[in-house]
Amino acid sequence: MKIARKVKYETELDHSFHDWISTVPGGESIRECIQCGTCSSICPMSVYMDISPRRIIAMADAGFKKEVLSSFTIWLCSSCYACTVNCPKDIKITDVMYAFKRRAIEEGYYPSRKFTIPILAKSFANMVKKNGRTTESRLVMTMAWKSGIGRLFRMAPLGLKLLKTGRFKWSKEKVGNREQIRKIFEVLEAEA
Ligand code: SF4
Ligand code: SF4
Repeated sequence: MKIARKVKYETELDHSFHDWISTVPGGESIRECIQCGTCSSICPMSVYMDISPRRIIAMADAGFKKEVLSSFTIWLCSSCYACTVNCPKDIKITDVMYAFKRRAIEEGYYPSRKFTIPILAKSFANMVKKNGRTTESRLVMTMAWKSGIGRLFRMAPLGLKLLKTGRFKWSKEKVGNREQIRKIFEVLEAEA
């Protein structure tokens, strides 16, 4: 996937983005990146990414917040940790990718409104926060609905088969002590 990029002036960059990523565990040494490219060359997903891991690190450091958070790359990272264990500067690239995903969800950045992974991640978190666990059938419905009605129709036959064979439950699944779950989320959100 390749995206068109335009030249940016210094004043258009968001330098607070670098300051923020430096506070994320694993991102403290991002400024020490030597652009060796080890992360990109070892990454099994880089061929599918619109911005390579090496460039993502450089762009985050330089303040290209919108481009980084709107990229497909952060969602295509499969968290294999190959980059992290091989980075000569000990930058925790995988953890940084997770931080980008969280921030993208919080601020509403998506590579495409129809790209399902961030929609799924957000719906999953909302469902766990509310019920303590997910109900797969409802999760898939929410994802399909939000990513385009056409997808919902395309997935309907498979969904019905799964419901009929008992692989999907329609009734909402909940844990008993949801108050405890709510408190855990409150603490996590306060620390974010
Ligand atoms: S492997 Fe580490 S030092 Fe090398 S480009 Fe990637 S992040 Fe930078
Ligand atoms: S953790 Fe993500 S960015 Fe790093 S090598 Fe694996 S897929 Fe690529």
